[in-house]
Amino acid sequence: MALREIVQFPDPRLKLVSKPITQITDEIRQLAADMIEVMYDEPGIGLAAPQVGESVRLFVIDTEWSDEEIGRNPKVVLNPEISEREGRITWDEGCLSVPDYNAVVERDAKITLRGVDLDGNPILERAEGLRAVCIQHEVDHLDGILFIDRISRLKRGLYVKKRRKQLAEEAAERQG
Ligand code: ZN
Repeated sequence: MALREIVQFPDPRLKLVSKPITQITDEIRQLAADMIEVMYDEPGIGLAAPQVGESVRLFVIDTEWSDEEIGRNPKVVLNPEISEREGRITWDEGCLSVPDYNAVVERDAKITLRGVDLDGNPILERAEGLRAVCIQHEVDHLDGILFIDRISRLKRGLYVKKRRKQLAEEAAERQG
């Protein structure tokens, strides 16, 4: 089966606030499995459901899998909530939905993540560094927020311009 396609900026689906998951159905389990596959294929370290066009509060994360000694350890989080924020950290972020762009974003340095796993069991994780950054980035997706919404208007404007040009060139290539 073909992998699900990544929804890319400026697709309006990325701006939607996703709905809470009230029942863990086979569709939800399949969605999570598909997203894990896409995350490793791209490759990425996190993926939120809106990035594959599903407006539900679910993300997958695996921040250390490129380290061969650690290997793959994907975590699926439903209905995530972040609390107990502490300190600030800056990180150079990118996003599978924002092609060919990176920018430094300031976020909370240490966080506590709560949510539910695919068996309905509660998740409690304290995270810092890259892991904390990635979790905040994915939860943002569920609220319709991209990392480029957290950079200066000037930088964002430059990216939007570059992206429009890129899309125009792609369209011209398809025609020509
Ligand atoms: Zn992203």
